[in-house]
Amino acid sequence: MSRPHGLSKSRFTSGLQCHRQLWWKTHEPGAPELVPDAATHAIFDSGSRVGVVAQGYVPGGTPIDLPYDDYAGKLAATQAALATKPPAIYEASVSAGGVFVAVDILQRESRGWRVIEVKSSTQVKPQHVPDAAIQVLTLREAGLEISGADVMVLNSACRYPDLSNLFRREDVSAEVESTLPMVASEVKSQLAMLAGPLPEAEIGPRCGSPYECPFRSRCWKDVPEHHVSTLYYQSAHAQKYLDQGWVTIHDLPDGSVKNPTADRQRRAVQAGRMLVEGDLAATLRRFPAPLAYFDFETINPAIPVWNGCGPYTQVPVQFSCHVEAADGTLTHFEWVPEEPGDPRAELAARVVEACRGAACVVAYNASFEKRGLEHLAEAAPQYADALRDVIARMVDLLPAVRDHVYHPEFGGSFSIKAVLPALAPEFSYEGLEIAQGDEAAGVLATLLLDPDALLPLERAARREELLAYCKLDTLAMVKVLHRLRELASHGGDA
Ligand code: SF4
Repeated sequence: MSRPHGLSKSRFTSGLQCHRQLWWKTHEPGAPELVPDAATHAIFDSGSRVGVVAQGYVPGGTPIDLPYDDYAGKLAATQAALATKPPAIYEASVSAGGVFVAVDILQRESRGWRVIEVKSSTQVKPQHVPDAAIQVLTLREAGLEISGADVMVLNSACRYPDLSNLFRREDVSAEVESTLPMVASEVKSQLAMLAGPLPEAEIGPRCGSPYECPFRSRCWKDVPEHHVSTLYYQSAHAQKYLDQGWVTIHDLPDGSVKNPTADRQRRAVQAGRMLVEGDLAATLRRFPAPLAYFDFETINPAIPVWNGCGPYTQVPVQFSCHVEAADGTLTHFEWVPEEPGDPRAELAARVVEACRGAACVVAYNASFEKRGLEHLAEAAPQYADALRDVIARMVDLLPAVRDHVYHPEFGGSFSIKAVLPALAPEFSYEGLEIAQGDEAAGVLATLLLDPDALLPLERAARREELLAYCKLDTLAMVKVLHRLRELASHGGDA
């Protein structure tokens, strides 16, 4: 059995976000945009692991464990399982009204069956309700008695090693019942749309909400440079600007942008050059030598594996630090674990050593590094005082850029990856095997938690790539601070 133009739970969810997205996913399932990259793979794998572990918290179920596309086999196995009335069925598969659903967990109750939708988030979100509702609708159409629906999420109060409370369930039956009429009508509308040509759809906030649409490069390809949606922190106002006929930042008149940073962006784009404003020199006096430019890489496993960690706790596992002496000499410190297992105590010791003697520890978006240091202080209390001393010396470089400088090439972002090529064009992340934080996190998670997924030579190569990536992050800070000093000393002239 195939379902080329039918709906599934995930396709229905896509269609709720945008019919055009659903049409492409259904009619072009092999589209290059749908081939998951490493980071997306890691999210899928993590979600699957959470789903399997969740089954253990509703024990005694019958698994419908067949290949992904064996729809007929799954339907038949589910019918057989239903007839034996087990306490639960995992991946119970049912088809009705043009919709195929595989329910994460179907739990038997005295009044019928309860749908349990497992989510690998820690919060029940509004978009989870239609996910559960499409299953309730389809199961009822197939003739099953459905008593209610729960969303089962990871419990952020859980702390390793006690995983007895790893999940919590929220009863969403009332919300599901009130959503059913909308879901029934939307199913009809999606099935009719899929039988026709590619529908039109307006680009806008829907392209990133509730999920990032994979087809942005198709629909947004004609969007001009400096579109109003790229204004710093102004996405909520983009539609208002468009409604006024202001399509790009060039169209925005004086006084139309209230946020001072976004307004500096507007003026820089309209002037076609970098603007440097305010007392940048005074701000830079907060960065006295010797300086330690510091950056962590972290992993955040959905299911905690080390003491004191909860679901998605950001755990620092790698660092890079460039130490700059008063005479400008740079010394580089770095570390990435060579063996699987909990690296926090060794990491803490090496971080303390690297930052020893620095008058100022520079971080970019320092709140992240401060949280990581605090986490290490709790995980390795023998270094707590020294780590908190590092926190006390830490100064954030990001506000020095954001509050004083805008270059038209920032593109509305003050991330180090947006800022570096504009301020120091000779440096770039291009050409690195690992060039994004989420890629680094995925590789680190594999090395530390699933090392056998890689051959020894691959592990060594990945480690080198991680070191190169993290090193560039701290070198980028060195270059950015140097450039800011140049700008301050020239009174802001680029
Ligand atoms: S990019 Fe936006 S308009 Fe285009 S398919 Fe995706 S959600 Fe729809």
